[in-house]
Amino acid sequence: MTMKTTRRRFIFTAASSGLGAFAAVTQAANTDGAQSGVVVVPERKVPVLAETDVLVCGGGTAGITAACSAARHGAKVILIERWPCVGGMATAALVNGWHRSDRTKVVINGLVEEAAERARKCGWIEQVKNFPRAFETHWFDPEGMKVVYQDMLDESGVRTFCYLVAGEPVVEGGRIRGVVVETKEGTRAILARIVIDATGDGDIAAKAGLPFEYGRVGDGLVQGMTMMFRLSDVAPEIVNAHHQDADRVFNLMKKLRDEGKFPQFLEVAARGYLHSARPPDVSYNMCPVAGNALHEEELTRLTAKARRQVHQYVELWRKEMPGFEDARVVQTGFSLGIRESRRVHGLKTLDAHMVVKAVKQPDAIGHGVWMIDIHDPKGSGHTTWADQKPEMMVPVGQSYHIPLGMCLNTTLPNLAVVGRCASSTHEGHSSVRVQTHCMVMGQGVGTCAALALNAGVDMAKLDVHQLQAQLRKDGVYLEDVP
Ligand SMILES: Cc1cc2nc3c(=O)[nH]c(=O)nc-3n(C[C@H](O)[C@H](O)[C@H](O)COP(=O)(O)OP(=O)(O)OC[C@H]3O[C@@H](n4cnc5c(N)ncnc54)[C@H](O)[C@@H]3O)c2cc1C
Repeated sequence: MTMKTTRRRFIFTAASSGLGAFAAVTQAANTDGAQSGVVVVPERKVPVLAETDVLVCGGGTAGITAACSAARHGAKVILIERWPCVGGMATAALVNGWHRSDRTKVVINGLVEEAAERARKCGWIEQVKNFPRAFETHWFDPEGMKVVYQDMLDESGVRTFCYLVAGEPVVEGGRIRGVVVETKEGTRAILARIVIDATGDGDIAAKAGLPFEYGRVGDGLVQGMTMMFRLSDVAPEIVNAHHQDADRVFNLMKKLRDEGKFPQFLEVAARGYLHSARPPDVSYNMCPVAGNALHEEELTRLTAKARRQVHQYVELWRKEMPGFEDARVVQTGFSLGIRESRRVHGLKTLDAHMVVKAVKQPDAIGHGVWMIDIHDPKGSGHTTWADQKPEMMVPVGQSYHIPLGMCLNTTLPNLAVVGRCASSTHEGHSSVRVQTHCMVMGQGVGTCAALALNAGVDMAKLDVHQLQAQLRKDGVYLEDVP
């Protein structure tokens, strides 16, 4: 379904550091409005906290690479992130797998390789044994990646504000001027020449009035969510060893679930984990829930429900599965793992055909390899990844192009959208949402933003060959551009 959000206006005072710059604000709510569920918020002057060239809203994998690449090409960059660490789903939701290969060779490099190299030096990343001939190429430690990603930002000269939610966008004269934030000292604005929405949910783009899609055609549901978790005290002798009791316990889980006495679980993962118990520093991806990814109260309930489910799995394993007697849940994601929410309309929309036919694009900024991977929007835990149907996969040895156009739009030329909220269909999104692909998008758009500012043009007007040449120079794999 296509949707639009409306926005309200703010007036800014000159840069200021104190409360003194606030204009008097009338606090009284409109009684009539309140009765009808509406409060009138008066127009007010808001001090400017900072002005910058590029403002990146959201510090997930896409936002990090966008910020680093813009800063490395000479732009003054601010990144704001609502959580206390950067990494987004990769750290806060414990999502720890990477896909970089077309199963014959690596086709995703650039800042992805730099992050891998930094993590490798600290022992925070593990390359799979049959690399690069596997779907998954690396497993990493989400805790270590908090440090890797923050180091990359700091060393690139990005000014990072965690603990800060990007609020209302400021739109004037057909351009975005910045966003309003709520600090401990009060309401402030951060102004920028270019804003990059990397919120995963397309918060800024939607509030700025850009149209977006939410959910699949038919019922409007988004992909299922997952609560990742980590265990400790699994007996060392059964870690990475095929276990004779695994099928019995797996069948028991299925039986109890079908009788309504046990929660849903991701079958393909649960079976795998039981057959080859993962060491405690690897996250378990098997606890599904489903619902509205944009509704805070519903997300709160889903998160609590998922945490209960995790303990139900482990309670059963402790009783039934040799080697798990002392297993303990040491961590659940502090956020539920959210796969899909808004997909903001762009100049181009990535769809399933472009993915599985490995379509090449003149405005390519990098390559994608992942399959159509849809987790059941109703929360059964089934994923199309488990079926591995040929018509859902990118052929071995091939990859598709990620186009710049999926991150730009026709309405606000100085606003770009990167990561899982960029323009795609529900099916196209299920491939391009994976971290390495979001990082490719971030690097492409961050570089584009800096080069466009240098050239004095809007991002869509930048010579795409110049951008592609720069990306290649920066280590991005970019082949077969038509
Ligand atoms: C359970 C699960 C398993 C997955 N498995 C894999 C896998 O095996 N391999 C893989 O590569 N990918 C996997 N993915 C997908 C992948 O992790 C995400 O799609 C990807 O990390 C998205 O990156 P992003 O930067 O676009 O968004 P996010 O990681 O969601 O980052 C968005 C950031 O913006 C911040 N933010 C949001 N709103 C605001 C705001 N208003 N102001 C300030 N900050 C804000 C958030 O706090 C967050 O840090 C999985 C996802 C899930 C949920």
